[in-house]
Amino acid sequence: MGKPVKVTKGDLEYLAKALKQNKPYTEMARHLGICVDTVKRILHREGLAEFDGAKYVVALSSDKHMKMWERPCMKCKCTKPRPKWQYICTKCKEKFSKESESIWDF
Ligand SMILES: [Zn+2]
Repeated sequence: MGKPVKVTKGDLEYLAKALKQNKPYTEMARHLGICVDTVKRILHREGLAEFDGAKYVVALSSDKHMKMWERPCMKCKCTKPRPKWQYICTKCKEKFSKESESIWDF
């Protein structure tokens, strides 16, 4: 397999912004010069987006539909149960969304 793709903070900021603007993944991939699968993997890894059934699960959003897991948070390693496919804990996720708001609210 290829070496891990390095993404800069600027790339992530671009991706977060592109997501808000509902840009297609193909356009994000072209912009960063990487393949679409890599874009998705980065977004998933950074907790910026969820793929496959995850969106659907979140849309249902009632506790009995929500699958949980205890995978360590990718940022703080916290293992508190959280919705499956959410790779970072809710605390880190909130922190991230606050940070991105402060970046984008000019
Ligand atoms: Zn965390």
